[in-house]
Amino acid sequence: MTKLIKFGGSSLANGDQYKKVINIIKKDKTRQIIVLSAPGKRFDDDIKVTDLLIQYAKAVINKQDYKDILNNIIGRYKDIADTYDISDDEFAPIVSIFNNLPKQKYPNNEYLLAAFKAHGERMNAKLMSIVLNHLNIKAKFVDPKELGIVVSKDDPNAADVLKETYENLGHFGYGNEKLVIPGFFGYTKDGNMATFARGGSDITGSIIANGLNIPMYENFTDVSSIYSANPKIINHPAPIKKMTYREMRELAYAGFSVFNDEAIILQLRGM
Ligand code: ASP
Repeated sequence: MTKLIKFGGSSLANGDQYKKVINIIKKDKTRQIIVLSAPGKRFDDDIKVTDLLIQYAKAVINKQDYKDILNNIIGRYKDIADTYDISDDEFAPIVSIFNNLPKQKYPNNEYLLAAFKAHGERMNAKLMSIVLNHLNIKAKFVDPKELGIVVSKDDPNAADVLKETYENLGHFGYGNEKLVIPGFFGYTKDGNMATFARGGSDITGSIIANGLNIPMYENFTDVSSIYSANPKIINHPAPIKKMTYREMRELAYAGFSVFNDEAIILQLRGM
């Protein structure tokens, strides 16, 4: 049975977190499809890479100096790469893709912002595939374009998945290697990157699990369970071990942050 496994940003925030994630991947050989968020917060008042990319995009749009922000973003990935002694040569494409973002053509600034944001997950999946291969785990980076994830174009920063995505995924073939897929974005019919709403990597996980007919979607996040109360406010609340999709959706919709509400709607609709 093939499993899809998705990791959130705080689970991928630095090299140590990466190690935990890789142990989880290694623990079960059937964990073949890996969907990732961008590196999140390493500590409470840290800034998520997605938010740094928003700053980067805004600086470019407003023609301000962005050197420090860019270095900060690249540094987040470099720290992870250094944990695994990834060579400068292997890391170089990540540096140049981040450097070249302002030089690409975008239909307008909304698309520019979406494409910058998407690169948080895109480069994290690239880096994870490099690291896994470095550890002799055969892995391949797969862009949402190859999978055929097609999204609506009315709002490139809160796009919806289009039905044809499922048809495309139905035709997608893969071998035995791990597939490392960036969450959070797809491509419009015109070929431009567009992201889902914030927290949307869960949505990618749902889409792919559905479209590839994967019987088990495991979603790893920074809490060990869904609890009966917010563990950041109440000490040691009781974990809830079983929950229906509908109950999960109610909670997600009401703002609990463990799983994205749109990702559950896709499961409920069986789209
Ligand atoms: N990186 C994106 C965000 O911060 C998407 C995600 O993590 O699911 O919203």
